[in-house]
Amino acid sequence: MKRLILALLLLAPLAPAHAALNVFACEPEWAALVAELAGERAKVYSATTARQDPHRIEARPSLIARVRRADLVVCTGAELEIGWLPLLLRQAGNARVQPGQAGYFEAAAVVERLDVPTTVDRAMGDVHASGNPHVHTDPRRIARIAEHLSARLAGLDPANAQAYRDRLADFSRRWSEALDRWSARAAPLRGVRVVAHHKDWVYLYEWLGMESAGYLEVKPGIPPSAAHLAALKVELAAQPARLVLRTPYQDPRASEWLAQQTGVVPVELPYTAGGTPGTADLFGLVEVTVERLLAGLQ
Ligand SMILES: [Zn+2]
Repeated sequence: MKRLILALLLLAPLAPAHAALNVFACEPEWAALVAELAGERAKVYSATTARQDPHRIEARPSLIARVRRADLVVCTGAELEIGWLPLLLRQAGNARVQPGQAGYFEAAAVVERLDVPTTVDRAMGDVHASGNPHVHTDPRRIARIAEHLSARLAGLDPANAQAYRDRLADFSRRWSEALDRWSARAAPLRGVRVVAHHKDWVYLYEWLGMESAGYLEVKPGIPPSAAHLAALKVELAAQPARLVLRTPYQDPRASEWLAQQTGVVPVELPYTAGGTPGTADLFGLVEVTVERLLAGLQ
């Protein structure tokens, strides 16, 4: 028995000095980014899948239990999760991951946001007072978020700080190379007019120089109506668009109708990691997004 204990003591230094960080990501894109930046140093759980609308998630007890155990909560912020995240944080009662603590990270807070309203009028629909939250559709903003998130990981797990810095350097180099490639490949999209189901893509438009030709939703968060679609059809007859975009979680009927009526090409984009085949990581996500947009122009 003594010998066994001695053997176990000798083996002990082989075990990792620190257990992996428990990370709760609100959306798959942040789970994918943490995986890039932390590797095996983090156990990442995503609260949502690409087939779920992140604006509308139920604060289930299983999610509350995950938040209770988390060392770090990584979410979009800018009110995207306003309908469910505050409830999860409150119910979980985990002081380390409350807003303002090191264990709480909002991606949209560290980049410039578009569509910040000068006045907030709820009659305008589901308006995000902090600006458009869908920042991850611009890979340039992903690069900036990666730097902030990596620093946060290093702060929470200082023993491995150098390893996080090394992984960030490697990710940033590969991402920047890919960004040059994607930007060049996407050149034909510059100036292309597109309709979208929801204001999911304003950051993608900004990156690629595409122009918004309208939305299928009547107002953000308010589903398409027959009258609104009929008016949009008239507008497009005067000033045509090429594509109509939707995510995997949006009802395809409105975009299919508009496509039949006006000849715009319907394109389902992955929106986030895991949205379509080939998008398990962030590189695949941007790659497939660009390729699907280009295919829509053919
Ligand atoms: Zn939105």
